[in-house]
Amino acid sequence: MAERVLITGAAGFLGSHLCDRFISDGFHVIGMDNLITGDMRNIEHLIKLEHFEFYHHDVSKFVHVPGELKYILHFASPASPIDYLKIPIQTLKVSSLGTHHLLGLAKAKKARILVASTSEVYGDPLVHPQNEEYYGNVNSVGPRGVYDEAKRFQEALTMAYHTFHGLETRIVRIFNTYGPRMRLNDGRVLPAFIGQAIRGEDLTIFGDGSQTRSFCYVDDLVEGIKRLLLSDHSSPVNIGNPDEITISDFAKEIIALTGTKQKVVYKPLPQDDPKIRQPDISKAKQLLGWEPKVNRKDGIQKTYEYFLSLSKEDLYKNEHKNFGSYIK
Ligand code: NAD
Ligand code: UDP
Repeated sequence: MAERVLITGAAGFLGSHLCDRFISDGFHVIGMDNLITGDMRNIEHLIKLEHFEFYHHDVSKFVHVPGELKYILHFASPASPIDYLKIPIQTLKVSSLGTHHLLGLAKAKKARILVASTSEVYGDPLVHPQNEEYYGNVNSVGPRGVYDEAKRFQEALTMAYHTFHGLETRIVRIFNTYGPRMRLNDGRVLPAFIGQAIRGEDLTIFGDGSQTRSFCYVDDLVEGIKRLLLSDHSSPVNIGNPDEITISDFAKEIIALTGTKQKVVYKPLPQDDPKIRQPDISKAKQLLGWEPKVNRKDGIQKTYEYFLSLSKEDLYKNEHKNFGSYIK
């Protein structure tokens, strides 16, 4: 009998790739999602499979899954700043109430649970690169507080279930990850730049472009997550690609890749936008024998090909275009 794994956020970017990985590794996968930022098209190729089930459910409400569970991976949560600014209360609830429900489910099923945390727990960091010992610099009442504090609470609750109930828990701190199935209009910088280039629009740099990010290709992340899940390590582990780049240089790379003749335009930097970000992955290297393998050029090429394959309707979908209050 195949071991059963529950993956929340299954119709989202990362959740759908995790479903693929666990299916191909021979698991019976139960995907759960309320589709608030996800899309059934990300998992439509799995729906017909005998070893895949889908539950349309909001995990901020009580979660019921019949039968045994070996693992739970909690990946339900809006992840793009523009998304969590649009749905702040749901964002707070899914990583607090949602996490509580899934920890309770894990306890009842004697399952091991891995929760998706984020580099945002470090806030606008004063330590560089960020290692797991750093406590972070988060503005709890700023616009990003709804996401960052919910994720910090998620970590605290998960550790409490581990120490108090002896639950098998894992916490992954994910740094900016990209790849096919990102929503072209989710506001994150890579789909934003590529979408603008394909549509023939100018590329929007927020601030002066000197802020940095370090981008990890999704396949590398999934491998790191799988290794962490199977490890015996319950304290948080950074997974990301340390190859750091300024947003200005990143825009230049997208311009070179796409051959767009458009220019770069500058918009104000959103409040509390982290100025630097780079994972220290010494812990993942040492404990999991993991490090990223896909370089940015190859990863972005694959992602670009995916975006090129989308319909005109997807390309011009602009549900976030009136959501301007965050971007001053
Ligand atoms: P995504 O928006 O593509 O996917 C999130 C999924 O969760 C969506 O399908 C959405 O519909 C679902 N969801 C949201 N609230 C829900 C609820 N209450 N009940 C059930 N389903 C719900 O985002 P993503 O990039 O795939 O991120 C997935 C997880 O990884 C999130 O927890 C996010 O915080 C974390 N993460 C992602 C990144 C990244 O770079 N992609 C970085 C750090 C952390
Ligand atoms: N950014 C940008 N132009 C855009 C979208 C984002 O310059 O059209 C910047 C944003 O201000 C941030 C960086 O790119 O400094 C990464 O933003 P993203 O939303 O992808 O993720 P974050 O790491 O901030 O959560």
